Amino acid sequence: MSIRALDLAAPAVRSLSPYVPGKPISELEREYGVTDSIKLASNENPLGAGPKAVAAIQSALGDLGLYPDGNGFELKQALMRHHHCAMENITLGNGSNELLVMIAEAFLSPAVSAVYSQYAFAIYAIATHATGAIKRVAPAHPEGHRMALGHDLDAMHKLVDADTRLVFIANPNNPTGTWLEAEPLRRFIESMPPHVIVVVDEAYRQYANVPDYPDVAQWVAELPNLIVSRTFSKAYGLAGLRVGYALSSPEVADVLNRVRQAFNVNSLALVAAEAALGDEEHLARTVELNRAGMTQLQAAFARLQLRQYPSACNFLLVDCGKPAGPVYEALLRRGVIVRPVGGYGLPNHLRVTIGTPEQNERMIAGFREILQGS
Ligand SMILES: *Cc1c(COP(=O)(O)O)cnc(C)c1O
Repeated sequence: MSIRALDLAAPAVRSLSPYVPGKPISELEREYGVTDSIKLASNENPLGAGPKAVAAIQSALGDLGLYPDGNGFELKQALMRHHHCAMENITLGNGSNELLVMIAEAFLSPAVSAVYSQYAFAIYAIATHATGAIKRVAPAHPEGHRMALGHDLDAMHKLVDADTRLVFIANPNNPTGTWLEAEPLRRFIESMPPHVIVVVDEAYRQYANVPDYPDVAQWVAELPNLIVSRTFSKAYGLAGLRVGYALSSPEVADVLNRVRQAFNVNSLALVAAEAALGDEEHLARTVELNRAGMTQLQAAFARLQLRQYPSACNFLLVDCGKPAGPVYEALLRRGVIVRPVGGYGLPNHLRVTIGTPEQNERMIAGFREILQGS
């Protein structure tokens, strides 16, 4: 007997397009027969996990037979010290991706809407769609704007109405790299009606060394309609473990905990995240490597005369000036994986993660050969 599973699926699921992740190295090497390839496609930390996180995992291996602490007490204690907040403000997630999905599940339904920007992180659309809620997508700042392709808060504000429950903001945003400054963001959140919760996704905040970048975590105590999401996947180098957290009012955290699975964060992720939070040296090395790599890549793309966008992240968005697919393919054949962003409506663009100086050089050499034939 065969069944037509798709026909049986819930309507919102039937029309859902799954997230397309960066190509894994093993898949590239299998499909293209190349070796020694590099992945600059998923904004991972080129230094990997820090030594303290690795040591913490090693010492926790003996307890793998036990369920993790479903409340994540120790990690929450460390986060409380880090953020000067209370236990009740923190919700842990299996990556911040899970938190975004939990937020959507908790506050959205087919009767209400979520607002986000064009070119915003793809998970906002997917998580919203899965609930059957209405998606309201605000046009981004146009080319030529100081933050071209970035969030336009005025345009987003216009889409908020009586049925809106969530506004998703990535600061800084992936895949554009663009960011919002403190004052306009604060004004935006304060201007929301009380039935609207604003989610500020700060996946890249440790890299955001730009003027007037807001410290949104500090606003949680004063703004009960604010949720901040953070992750250990990017600057902390723990993408493979899947751990993130949300900061919010205790009332919002209580709602999120109703949809949270009891053991959503595994025991190795809990100890590694706690250790990573205390490894300031690894974070500082990571941020410095990124700063130098950003300078290296911006100069190289300028020499190639490719349009690029301001970035407060560990990646750059570049405009190939022609369809990016063949450029992406040619880079793959050279063992370099970057990220196509056609799914975002940017068919001429590629998003490249900042790697080590050697990885950056190899990627740039690839671009040079492909675009200039030299
Ligand atoms: C990578 C990313 C996340 C999700 O990261 P997790 O690994 O699920 O914590 C969230 N938001 C943005 C904008 C990202 O780029």
